[in-house]
Amino acid sequence: IRVTFTPIHRREFGITGTIAVLQDVTEQEEMETTRREFVANVSHELRTPLTTIRSYAEALDDGAMGEPQLAERFVGVIRNETERMIRLVTDLLHLSRLDSNEAPLRMQPADVMEMLDEVADRFSFQMKQKHIRSGMFVEQGIGKVVIDRDQIEQVLDNLMSNALKYTPEGGNIRIEARRNSEGMLSISVQDTGIGIPKKDLDRIFERFYRVDKARSRNMGGTGLGLSIAREIVKAHGGQIFLESEYGQGTCTTFTLPMLGEGREAQ
Ligand code: ADP
Repeated sequence: IRVTFTPIHRREFGITGTIAVLQDVTEQEEMETTRREFVANVSHELRTPLTTIRSYAEALDDGAMGEPQLAERFVGVIRNETERMIRLVTDLLHLSRLDSNEAPLRMQPADVMEMLDEVADRFSFQMKQKHIRSGMFVEQGIGKVVIDRDQIEQVLDNLMSNALKYTPEGGNIRIEARRNSEGMLSISVQDTGIGIPKKDLDRIFERFYRVDKARSRNMGGTGLGLSIAREIVKAHGGQIFLESEYGQGTCTTFTLPMLGEGREAQ
C-alpha cells in the first residue's frame, strides 16, 4: 500500500488538516516486476544466439575459413542461430500484436474436421520420421465454427509441435474434438511423452517458462509457444489448460465458443 499525505492550507489559518491517500499498488508492482522479468528474458534469449554467432564468426576470421569442412560446420551453426533469433522475434511480434489488440480477429466459418486433418497432415512427415503413431477423433455433429482460422491453426501447430518435441520415438499423439458439457468446442492434443512435473504445471503458460531450458533450446523452442496459444484462445473467448503426468504424457485442451461469440464477433 502506498500512502501519500497532502496538507490542507487555508490562507489565514495555515495548515488545517491533511489528506491521506491509501493506494493499493500490489497489482501495479506485480505488473512492473513481470515487465522487468520479460525484458530481462528477451535480452538474455537474444544475447545467447548473438554471442554464439560472434564467436563462430571470429573463429572463421581466425583461420577456420581455410578449412572447408570446418568452415561449413561453423556457417551451419551461424545459420541455425540466426533462424532461432528470427523465430524468437517473430513470436515476440506476434505476442505484442495480441497484447495490444492491434490485430483484430478475422472471424470466418471453418470446418473443424478439415482443419484438424490439415494440421495432422502438416506434421505427418516428422511423425513418421520419429515413428510416432497418430490418431484423431472428431465427435459427430461438429461441423463448422466461427474462428480466426489462421490464429487457431497457429494454436494447433504450437500444441502439435510441443507434443512432437517432447515425445520420444515410438510414442503416440492423438487429436480429439468434442462438444463439452458447457456446449463449447473442446480440442485436445494428447501425447505419451516425457510429461511435466507437478511443480511446473502452474507456470507453464508464462512467457519463457520452460521445464528444461537446455532441452527446449536444443529442440528449437522459444519458450513462447504456449503463451501465444493462450492469448489467441483468450481472444476467442475460450480457455486453455494442460494436464500432465510426469514420465507418462501430456494433454493440452482448449475450448472455443461453438458460435464464435469471441471478442471480435460480438
Ligand atoms: P517451447 O518453445 O520451449 O516448447 P512452450 O511455451 O511451447 O515453449 O512450452 C513451454 C514449456 O512447457 C516447454 O519448454 C516444455 O518444458 C513444456 N511443455 C510444453 N508442452 C509439452 C508437452 N507436450 N510435453 C512435455 N512438456 C511440454
